[in-house]
Amino acid sequence: MGQKGQVYFCEICRQKVEVKIGAFGVLVCCGQEMKLVEGMMATWTSVHPNPVGGATYICKKCGQQIAVVEETAGILECCGQRMERKKAVTD
Ligand SMILES: [Zn+2]
Ligand SMILES: [Zn+2]
Repeated sequence: MGQKGQVYFCEICRQKVEVKIGAFGVLVCCGQEMKLVEGMMATWTSVHPNPVGGATYICKKCGQQIAVVEETAGILECCGQRMERKKAVTD
């Protein structure tokens, strides 16, 4: 469901991520679906395209890739499994 550039956040832990490579997988954090951020927050993100910290997570099933904008202790999942953490990539 993710599309490149979209920002999602977790209502429980406030973790925020930006979709780098969209796929059909549903992003989950803290056991519930992450919410799509629209409007003001989305604008904020487009002004700050490269999140500081830059941890990247990848779903091995659907290939979805996200960058963490605001990191928390929340567990990120996609396609029913934990996403794999990658080091920051500069491409
Ligand atoms: Zn969370
Ligand atoms: Zn997935």
